[in-house]
Amino acid sequence: MAKELYPLGEMPPLGEVPEKMHAWLIRAERFGKPTEAFQQEVVGVPAIADDEVLVYVMAAGINYNNVWAGLGIPVNVIAARNKAGEKEDFHIGGSDASGIVYKVGKDVTNVKVGDEVVMHCGQWNRNCEWVKKGGDPMYSPSFRIWGYETNWGSFAQFAKVQAQQCMPKPKHMNWEEAASYVLVAATAWRMLHGWGANSVKKGDVALIWGGAGGLGSMAIQIAKAAGATPVAMVSGNDKFDYCMKLGAKGCINRNDFDHWGMLPHWKDNVGYAKWLKGVRGFGAKIWEVLGEKRAPNIVFEHPGETTIPTSIFVCETGGMVVVCAGTTGYNATVDLRYLWMRQKRLQGSHFANGEQSNQMNELALRGQLDPCMSRVFTYEDLPLAHQLMHDNKHPHGNMAVLIGATEFGLGVSGKPAVAIEHPTLPENDVRTIAYAHPYPMSQPLPSVADAAGVTIKDDGTKVRDLMHRGIISCTPDDTVGEAARIMIDHEIHAVVVMDGDQAVGVVSQTDMVLARQGRTPNEARAMQVRDIMTLGCATCAADMLLSEAVSLMTGRHMHRLVVTENGKPVGVISMTDVVRKVIVE
Ligand code: NAP
Repeated sequence: MAKELYPLGEMPPLGEVPEKMHAWLIRAERFGKPTEAFQQEVVGVPAIADDEVLVYVMAAGINYNNVWAGLGIPVNVIAARNKAGEKEDFHIGGSDASGIVYKVGKDVTNVKVGDEVVMHCGQWNRNCEWVKKGGDPMYSPSFRIWGYETNWGSFAQFAKVQAQQCMPKPKHMNWEEAASYVLVAATAWRMLHGWGANSVKKGDVALIWGGAGGLGSMAIQIAKAAGATPVAMVSGNDKFDYCMKLGAKGCINRNDFDHWGMLPHWKDNVGYAKWLKGVRGFGAKIWEVLGEKRAPNIVFEHPGETTIPTSIFVCETGGMVVVCAGTTGYNATVDLRYLWMRQKRLQGSHFANGEQSNQMNELALRGQLDPCMSRVFTYEDLPLAHQLMHDNKHPHGNMAVLIGATEFGLGVSGKPAVAIEHPTLPENDVRTIAYAHPYPMSQPLPSVADAAGVTIKDDGTKVRDLMHRGIISCTPDDTVGEAARIMIDHEIHAVVVMDGDQAVGVVSQTDMVLARQGRTPNEARAMQVRDIMTLGCATCAADMLLSEAVSLMTGRHMHRLVVTENGKPVGVISMTDVVRKVIVE
């Protein structure tokens, strides 16, 4: 007779689904660090819908998303689901897995009980109109990441998945290896193969950021398999060998360069020239590594803020920078001249649809994709694996945890068609990235519709309550020397440029300092204000709310606005005035 609950490690007879199961649960009352948020509990095995499958989990992959689920930030995933009508007051995470099919819904045709499978983590509603019309499910409003945005992930004896998520398990991989690669590899596949004419092809050069990381190690192998030439970026020469064994033609140590970060202002001719020198040196290094003067046709991006300017600059004319994360920051700066004149593409990409996941998995099934698993943990150590990630102390590569598998290394049942070397990462490698929050699809980016629900606290202060009346100004024909004198005499940081009674621009201290760069003092003084001023003058009405004026300034990276009454300039409001009011007072 079927048992109500099987102890961990004791596999129920094939196809026999017990009433209850062991699982690692996150509950809202213990949101916090992973070692506290995850607790072992016994819960009911979930019922499945007609298009769903119940998988007995052998091993689960570890991803950062369940560190965030445990912390309850940036989204309380349990509350989000309760709001959407689901009743469970807990979260069972896990977005990667290997296992055995134990039960199938009545509409399921692609898998049967007993099949050994791995799962991709893309879920969507099969009745979504967009999907029914043949649209990419990645654009469906119903798209969710299984085991993060949905419940019943792989950190339990049984996982509930949609049948379309199931793909054959590579026979040559053990359970934990098979559980570790799908999320990163499918993401890398869509990035490289999902973008039409810019997708990677034979003969292309592909620049891969973080070549020894989870995504990068997959990207090197996928690009290589497509007949492209991968060049890997890493932060130490000790990772070169690893990336070369994965298929990189050559590697570049990013620490040999120092031009990273947001772009200097295009008016900053000295700063910009320095940046250009750095980025050109970096481009020359790519030529050196390739042994020919070629630029990357595709740049595989995820660091974001610190690397995007370089990625766009070095990308070949008509090429593509494809990005799936902003781990170092979200404000990527782009010199649009390179983007439009050389007709490059900056493409966002997120996970992968079922077709792309399966295409990627074909590569794994043939043996052409090493899962790059770096560390595997026992069931009891699941919170520890997440804690290491939380503390940024986890090894590079992909990690997994045993669930139903009783020992490490089990589950191999065949040989791959193509045998590849299994490279290992250097020991003692330290991480440099503390992860930025993932952006779950169920928490849509602010849109027009959402704005209606936002409440803003405001004390009603108006610009006129804080502004300085009167305008200290110069004309466009004044010399820079004259304008500088006005600035110094009045102890102000910028002078409004007036043409008659119209404010036509502003000349700031920064404009003057930039004008002086590369010129003698006399040359700079003799220039006319019109040559260096920032054209146009950001204005606000005196009766505008102070909070709105602040948004105007921060949005445009400005420190002051000219205040108008009846369309005529009457004063200035500056960030200094605001700081005095909101901080000092
Ligand atoms: P990972 O294994 O930690 O690798 C990240 C790599 O970035 C590291 O190997 C590191 O290599 C490199 N790196 C660190 N600091 C850098 C810097 N300042 N400049 C350039 N490179 C730097 O992480 P991963 O699994 O590859 O994931 C990378 C990002 O993609 C994460 O933010 C993750 O959340 C996101 N992601 C998004 C999706 C999606 O569907 N949108 C899917 C998976 C992952 P070196 O130090 O050797 O350079």
